[in-house]
Amino acid sequence: MTQQPERKVEYKVSIGLETHVQLKTRSKIWCGCPNVFGSEPNTDVCPICLGYPGTMPVLNREAVRLTVTAGLMLGCEISRYSKFDRKSYFYPDMPKNYQISQYDLPLCLGGGVDIDVEGTRKTVRIHRIHLEEDVAKNNHFAQSSGVDFNRAGTPLMEIVSEPDLASADEAFAFLVALKQMLVYGGISDCNLEQGNMRCDINCSVRPAEREALGTKTEIKNMNTFKGVYRSLSYEIKRQIDVLEQGGTIRQETRRWDDDAGVTRSMRTKEYAHDYRYFPEPDLMPVVLSDAEIDAWRATLPEMPATRRERLMREYGLPDYDAGVLVADKAIADYFEEVARLSGNAKAASNWMMTEMMRLLSERELEIGAVRMTPESLAGLIRLVDEKVLNAPGAKEVFSVLFEEGGDPKKIVDERGLAQISDSGALDQWVEDAIAANPKSVADYQGGKKAALQFLMGQVMRASKGKANPPLVLDALRKRLDP
Ligand SMILES: [Zn+2]
Repeated sequence: MTQQPERKVEYKVSIGLETHVQLKTRSKIWCGCPNVFGSEPNTDVCPICLGYPGTMPVLNREAVRLTVTAGLMLGCEISRYSKFDRKSYFYPDMPKNYQISQYDLPLCLGGGVDIDVEGTRKTVRIHRIHLEEDVAKNNHFAQSSGVDFNRAGTPLMEIVSEPDLASADEAFAFLVALKQMLVYGGISDCNLEQGNMRCDINCSVRPAEREALGTKTEIKNMNTFKGVYRSLSYEIKRQIDVLEQGGTIRQETRRWDDDAGVTRSMRTKEYAHDYRYFPEPDLMPVVLSDAEIDAWRATLPEMPATRRERLMREYGLPDYDAGVLVADKAIADYFEEVARLSGNAKAASNWMMTEMMRLLSERELEIGAVRMTPESLAGLIRLVDEKVLNAPGAKEVFSVLFEEGGDPKKIVDERGLAQISDSGALDQWVEDAIAANPKSVADYQGGKKAALQFLMGQVMRASKGKANPPLVLDALRKRLDP
């Protein structure tokens, strides 16, 4: 590695993110086509989302509700009056040659997202949230390209942040926090593999003593959080190097080359007036009443931070455990269901924090894909509480349930895992262990307490691990203690 030349000045970084989130509606934004992922290309389409001339869009009210709900969750001001506009551009992913979006009167203004980076809390301000239609997807093959219109007309919410983010770490934390809230709110699945969440990055640097922001570059269409982190780390360093060498930053759009790990210049930035925005004549403005907004506010879900505090209070969980469980809404839901059904929250959180988390990360699985239901885990906990199962037996049943699902009681019976508490059988094993190990017996009676553990191990082995350990201990003590 070459030695970095020492920098003459300190630099400040300003990053803003425009995050596009596909909304979880049943149908598309202007037509009745299903809003689903993974269909054969150009099968979930109709004349409206194909952009045929003469068709008329009809606004899907659910898309408005979800956008406003997101705005309420982020503390935005909700517009009582907003409208749609045509954003003109020419590209094969949009046969109308304009995208219906919102220009000067978006649905939500202001608000913010709290992030924690290295123990410091910070609020990243939101500039606005608007609603628009997603466009088609261009697929490029060896000899040709194809356009898939299934995605065209998917309701898309764009969340524009202020340039408050000061590092790649903060940008990453912002996206994680945003995703967590949107999933909690049922706004979007935020499934990155399916392109549910994509973002454009604006980034500039400037000498720390200067007030005005530096010239920004834009990195388009990032679809992984890791890509955002890596591209920003690269771009920040690139801009500082340019300035250090006495150069100037050009305002331009850059593309992230993930394989090479660099951003590359694509084109100089187009300005807003290039899009020739004008009001969409085929759609009525969106007028929302206070009553309607209040009704949506009343259905707001519990936010992750609130839920974390509640889990600590209600179930006596440590802060750390509560944080791990609420990080994924589906995991928190699963835990609470197990706690409720088993009546043993402590055991429920123990299983979730240890075996469940370990297996999920080993198999790279989402909890929704696990065969074991909350009912069956609760059943397993009850079997332990009723002393039918001992700890090693319970662990075995857990792994069977994780792989195959099923009824824990049946698994215990089929595998003969029920622990043996019958005093006749236990006494016989205890007698055998005592008879076979006179030295250990003498050691124990001579004051070596550890010898009892050895005898206990012998009994457990004789029982093939099924003896009830506390009862074995009792029986040994009763037999050997004076
Ligand atoms: Zn359609």
